[in-house]
Amino acid sequence: MIIIIIFFLSHWFLSLFFHSFFLHRYASHKMYSTSKNWEKVFYFSTWFVQGSSFLVPSAYAVMHRMHHTYSDTEKDPHSPHFFKDIWHMMVHTAAIFHSFATGKNKPDEEFTKDYLPSWSRLDKIGHSNISRVLFGLAYTSVYIFFAPSAWWFLLLPIHFLMGPIQGAIVNWCGHKYGYSNFNNGDHSKNTSPWGILLMGELFQNNHHHAKNNANFARRWFEFDLTYIIMKGMNRLSIIKLIPVPAA
Ligand SMILES: [Zn+2]
Ligand SMILES: [Zn+2]
Repeated sequence: MIIIIIFFLSHWFLSLFFHSFFLHRYASHKMYSTSKNWEKVFYFSTWFVQGSSFLVPSAYAVMHRMHHTYSDTEKDPHSPHFFKDIWHMMVHTAAIFHSFATGKNKPDEEFTKDYLPSWSRLDKIGHSNISRVLFGLAYTSVYIFFAPSAWWFLLLPIHFLMGPIQGAIVNWCGHKYGYSNFNNGDHSKNTSPWGILLMGELFQNNHHHAKNNANFARRWFEFDLTYIIMKGMNRLSIIKLIPVPAA
């Protein structure tokens, strides 16, 4: 049982970390600079930890930049205020994501003009059915070998859809429940103390107020774990945080 719990928590937090650190704070907002080699390491790690639910960074970033521009309006790709439940919002988001990831839909130039990391070979592999199915089989085999009873298999869908599930929790809860520090003209909210489980991503109200600030926490009781790790990486010169004027 302990192996399953460790496996689940490792997958949850590693997937979330690269989601927040690489897809959100780098690919979408470029909050730090890094070398080409480190960028490849982060890109590869994002694919490896997201596995069956890998989110192609450029498609993610374009969609996320749209989210900031159109926050909580009809053009927002995933505002909870236009869907009756989180599942319908996820399905709608997935369709937009897929159209960008496959090139079927071309985004407006304003969302692609800033730097977008790209590794077309890995995107192709990561977005292929074969890669997604192989990762799914790998997760299932961990459960076959180590789950003490069949009930534990109920956790498998979370492994299969880890990236989109974490994104949907942030997009739904972060624009619906909690308190505001700032009036951003949208429904963005901060959720504390649950924010800790989403590594800073649930401070949406703070983040929408200053989208280029790598630190999502503002008040003494708000804690942005991803940013703390980023500060350590900055000190080790793995990344270089780009300073922003205090907002
Ligand atoms: Zn948001
Ligand atoms: Zn953002």
